[in-house]
Amino acid sequence: AKASGRNAFRFFSPSMTAEVSERLLLENQLRLALAQQQFYLELQPKYHIASRRLNGFEALLRWRQPDGSLVSPARFIPVAEDSGVITELGLWVLEQACRTATEWVRHGRQLTIAVNVSARQLTHGDFCAEVARVLRDSGLPPALLELEVTEGTLIDYSGPVRQQLAGIKALGVRLAVDDFGTGYSSLAYLKNFAPDTVKIDRSFVSGLQHNRDNAAIVSAIITLARNLDMESLAEGVETEAELAALQALGCDTVQGYLTGRPLAVNDALALCRLQAAA
Ligand code: C2E
Ligand code: CA
Ligand code: CA
Ligand code: CA
Repeated sequence: AKASGRNAFRFFSPSMTAEVSERLLLENQLRLALAQQQFYLELQPKYHIASRRLNGFEALLRWRQPDGSLVSPARFIPVAEDSGVITELGLWVLEQACRTATEWVRHGRQLTIAVNVSARQLTHGDFCAEVARVLRDSGLPPALLELEVTEGTLIDYSGPVRQQLAGIKALGVRLAVDDFGTGYSSLAYLKNFAPDTVKIDRSFVSGLQHNRDNAAIVSAIITLARNLDMESLAEGVETEAELAALQALGCDTVQGYLTGRPLAVNDALALCRLQAAA
């Protein structure tokens, strides 16, 4: 049904109502899940390639339903965004993430925590003020927080969004552009947004050692990032061959199943302490 062209008629079909009611059900479940604390975070490590040292973690949201089943973020995040539940849910993620990273600081580890932010959070209310409050409440140094914004979000890089991002930057919080290369943003957006980190999407990283097109794209992004004084991070690195190719191209940091899957909060803390001892 989604494939219907610009001038095509949209006919009612039973599968459409099934889709709509499934989303409504999910939306109600999301609100309940937040109240009943069915969400938790997993933390995926990020490593500096040259030094092989732990650089920080990305917080990834997980939803376990009462029957024990996990719902994938790919399924519930879009519903949370469309329904507006993401503003509340995203704030919860931010609070948990900042508290966790403050715990690392107490153990003597200055590691960044990256948190995903949806477009909706930047256009609703005063997100910058919320970030400032969460930093104050948790006691986390602002430079240890990095907010990841997808390239798609930058399409609406106008008035309010621009203001929010500038305010966040002024707090001393880091910004990252997520899934870089997959959206429709232009290089002018990248220049204006001026993120601290460019996260190269997994679709370009995958098999780059034997895919000339991917290698060319990744190489161009790394060079661009370096010349704009931004850190380059390759996402979804799964093999040693990919890592070697990235290192040869001068990529700064990596994140992926090869160097570490998303971890439970306690396991992430254990990894922090292990690295501190090394
Ligand atoms: P993302 O921000 O691009 O996060 C990276 C995704 O890639 C994560 O999936 C991660 O588990 C997965 N990944 C990491 N390394 C590898 C790898 O080597 N191979 C493969 N195949 N996958 C890898 P996840 O956790 O399912 O999250 C999916 C998306 O959901 C995220 O993509 C992000 O857009 C969104 N998301 C997750 N947590 C949050 C959140 O707290 N807030 C918002 N707004 N979105 C979130
Ligand atoms: Ca991300
Ligand atoms: Ca990403
Ligand atoms: Ca993604």
